[in-house]
Amino acid sequence: MNIKTVMVIGAGQMGSGIAQVNAMSGYQVYLHDLKDELVERGLNTITKNLDRQVKKERMTETEKTDTLARITPSTDLNNAKNVDLVIEAAIENMEIKSKLFSDLDELAPEHAILATNTSSLPITEIAAATNRPEKVIGMHFMNPVPVMKLVEVIRGLATTDEVYNTIEDMSKSLNKVPVEVNDFPGFVSNRILLPMINEAIYAVYEGVAKPEAIDEVMKLGMNHPMGPLTLADFIGLDTCLYIMETLHDGLGDDKYRPCPLLRKYVKAGWLGKKSGRGFYQYS
Ligand code: NAD
Repeated sequence: MNIKTVMVIGAGQMGSGIAQVNAMSGYQVYLHDLKDELVERGLNTITKNLDRQVKKERMTETEKTDTLARITPSTDLNNAKNVDLVIEAAIENMEIKSKLFSDLDELAPEHAILATNTSSLPITEIAAATNRPEKVIGMHFMNPVPVMKLVEVIRGLATTDEVYNTIEDMSKSLNKVPVEVNDFPGFVSNRILLPMINEAIYAVYEGVAKPEAIDEVMKLGMNHPMGPLTLADFIGLDTCLYIMETLHDGLGDDKYRPCPLLRKYVKAGWLGKKSGRGFYQYS
């Protein structure tokens, strides 16, 4: 299938990055969120990123202008009528995603593929909200999207080979490396990453060491480019909590129990970098 027009749902951290890489690769993009100011915020992030690319001479001013011109702001889900592919990157919540997929199923053309960037929710369950489960797939980008090469491509129970192959090729056209994964809680990336982050939070909770010390140990001792608590702040602590809950519920094993300190921070609105405070403070 020939994909020309893509709708990205959610103009937050991930959605803005996904819209950027799609537009940079020549796709027409609708960037959709609930309110104008949220779309505006996403567009500002993209503009700043592209400005940086121009400054570093990785992109010309004309390429930047052309990229931005390919992005159409949207607060009307009816725009899904015009697209070949939807990439949903709204918040990590099954109720919200199911409602979106049910609405998108009504609106998007019959040939359109509906992809989700969920970090951990079952693709098969999201697909069950539609009448086209064979055209529903996981397209899990990494943060920050313009920098990170990986896309985990997750097959739902009913996803066809044709849809899988289209999304694999599409991911390559975005200059990404797709890796095939089956639909289990957390897929591969978060099944392994999040329990490590959760354990680092337990280490803070139990007073084993300060966040700075834990991050330093993992950077210098394990050669991680970024400590797990800094990474948690970048991912968003609300997203980390959702993923741990999904692992806990989906796999039914107490080793995935979210750390009470993680719950406390999320309740306090300390969501990491995006809210200005998490394990560290951000100005
Ligand atoms: P975010 O909070 O930065 O952005 C979410 C955006 O979705 C917000 O702008 C919000 O207004 C919008 N939104 C919420 N409900 C909506 C609806 N019904 N319709 C349209 N827009 C809606 O979150 P994020 O970090 O960008 O995460 C988005 C998705 O990507 C989540 O499913 C998350 O699990 C996944 N993900 C996140 C990361 C990460 O590192 N943050 C990495 C991979 C995948």
